[in-house]
Amino acid sequence: MKVAVFSTKPYDEQHLTQFNAQYHHELTFLEPRLTEKTAVLAAGHEAVCCFVNDVLSADTIKGLAAQGVRLIAMRCAGFNNVDLRAANDAGIEVVRVPEYSPYAVAEHAMALILDLNRNIHRAFNRVREHDYSLDGLMGFDVHGKTIGVVGTGKIGATFARLAKGFGCRVLTYDPYPNPEVEALGAEYVSLDTLWEASDIVSLHCPLTEATHHIVNAESIAKMKRGVMLINTSRGALVDTRAVIDGLKSGEIGYLGLDVYEEEADLFFEDYSNRVLQDDVFARLLTFPNVIITGHQAFFTNEALDAIATVTLNNITAFEQGNPEGRFTVTLG
Ligand code: NAD
Repeated sequence: MKVAVFSTKPYDEQHLTQFNAQYHHELTFLEPRLTEKTAVLAAGHEAVCCFVNDVLSADTIKGLAAQGVRLIAMRCAGFNNVDLRAANDAGIEVVRVPEYSPYAVAEHAMALILDLNRNIHRAFNRVREHDYSLDGLMGFDVHGKTIGVVGTGKIGATFARLAKGFGCRVLTYDPYPNPEVEALGAEYVSLDTLWEASDIVSLHCPLTEATHHIVNAESIAKMKRGVMLINTSRGALVDTRAVIDGLKSGEIGYLGLDVYEEEADLFFEDYSNRVLQDDVFARLLTFPNVIITGHQAFFTNEALDAIATVTLNNITAFEQGNPEGRFTVTLG
């Protein structure tokens, strides 16, 4: 099948090309993000392959349909950036990679926790300056602390297992409890109890209408003073302005982000020679107790191999009319 691959980075091209040797699709690698304006680049392709910050709005999808596109193959798990109703109306199917490496994201969340707690980012800079003082670097034992996990699907469950391995009490919230997580000895509680009792809160739920700004001024007020908040899921789970207020007041003691509400205009690009225009993001960067990574939690060799394989397999199954062989996103 002819596939236009948007938002291509060298690592995407490398992994997709390597695995495509078995699938034989015609892949056109395009650097631009898919938007309403760039949809025209899909001309002559039956499928587009997209990533987290491509804009699959109703207008973009209309543009894709006009170019004859019949399949949107997301090379990621989340699909909050796809207008599923518009795709359905246009007769375009959406497929995704529901699971590639839960370890990649769960381990990154744990890395943020350990880095923030033990001030590794600050220690790294101090030692390079021949400053071996310890003042200001004191952490706490993660062992024995209470970790709240919001969303216990594949990544949340993996993270809960890591937290249990550290000897933590694990509180979880999910409308659909996971027996595997219960078997670990994690306790399902109400969201309010999770906010109130957790020393560390890690978000692993998808971005939906129900979870948009699930961390806001009201929920922050319920959390333990000095709580550590980790978000490796989707930026808009967190009301960034409320979190900045929480950091300024000390209500939030540590913040680790791999995702950001307005990341689409920033992440995955090198803007080191440009003036940062986003004042909210700029404020976040001023806190010593905030670590931000640019949506790299998924970025392991194993995860990229799995993403390439499942994406190409989805496309082949669509081409062969095999509904069982692909991961289709359904409306509702
Ligand atoms: P999953 O579908 O396996 O699990 C999501 C869980 O969230 C499910 O158990 C679901 O019941 C639960 N959930 C739904 N609504 C909820 C709510 N209102 N409150 C609490 N829980 C709720 O997904 P996953 O593979 O574990 O991925 C989780 C999220 O991680 C994805 O949606 C994606 O946004 C994010 N993600 C981020 C990266 C990254 O690189 N940073 C990579 C992959 C996935």
